Amino acid sequence: MVKRFSFLGSLLAVAGVIFINYPATGDNNFGSVHLIVGNPSGATQDSNDADNLLLIKKQNALSYNKSKSIANWVSWQLNQKWLGGTKRCQNVQDGFSPDNTLPSGFKPVLPTDYKGSGFDRGHLTPSADRTDNPADNCAVFQMTNIIPQSPDVNQGPWEKLERYSRELAQQGKELYIIAGGTGTGGEGTNGFKSTFTGRSSGNKIVVPASSWKVILILDRPGLGLQGVTKDTRVIAVNMPHKQGVKQQSWDVKDNGKFRYITSVDEIEKLTGYDFFTNVPKDIQDVIEAKIDSGDS
Ligand code: MN
Ligand code: MN
Repeated sequence: MVKRFSFLGSLLAVAGVIFINYPATGDNNFGSVHLIVGNPSGATQDSNDADNLLLIKKQNALSYNKSKSIANWVSWQLNQKWLGGTKRCQNVQDGFSPDNTLPSGFKPVLPTDYKGSGFDRGHLTPSADRTDNPADNCAVFQMTNIIPQSPDVNQGPWEKLERYSRELAQQGKELYIIAGGTGTGGEGTNGFKSTFTGRSSGNKIVVPASSWKVILILDRPGLGLQGVTKDTRVIAVNMPHKQGVKQQSWDVKDNGKFRYITSVDEIEKLTGYDFFTNVPKDIQDVIEAKIDSGDS
């Protein structure tokens, strides 16, 4: 992606077009398209920063938390280029794999760790968001992209929002998505748990109290930060880890009030992160206060 933009940049330069602030290399993005809108927790690549360690991959970027054995957040770009006909990763262990890119001193979570816990191995970057080739699909089965989710959330409203996001991408839009778990303790098929011990690694794995997601939607690929205006659509949700919600839509209402849809401001309060820091403050203030109107 970075290469493509550089190539386009060179072409335009040759054509004599003045090309300012081209999308893939703004400040504070570590050269990753997945961090164009910002790095919400100020994660670093210093392995001493063990609970806020930045891992940059071709397929996404994430902040890993060693104490929790899960990511704090995963951030990724979604547009048509990431979507194709690739089938779900065929590696052993149902496609899942340990993340062997973690620095020494980190004990990777193993694919069988969640067995018997009562929680799903919930993808943050969904498998179906990376179907352009087998390598990209298998990469999002690394356990650093996985958090414990209540099965009914993962397979219910969470998955429906993932599908809706891909519909927008298929319509030609470009999405910047950041997702994670926050708080401690949720409900699985074996009841409420705050943590569980990984069956194979022995790691203590924290069960978040909810899964949250913020989505910034640009009209078309390649606009980058220049495409973000006060009119830009932003979707923010927080889904508590409870069972019995599988049939619900992501935009379900109770007495006229959205159950899951909220503002980015609220997710910032909940997590302590600052989203969209690379977006000018006056625009950030407007788009972070928005409450989306759902799929209607
Ligand atoms: Mn899922
Ligand atoms: Mn912000």
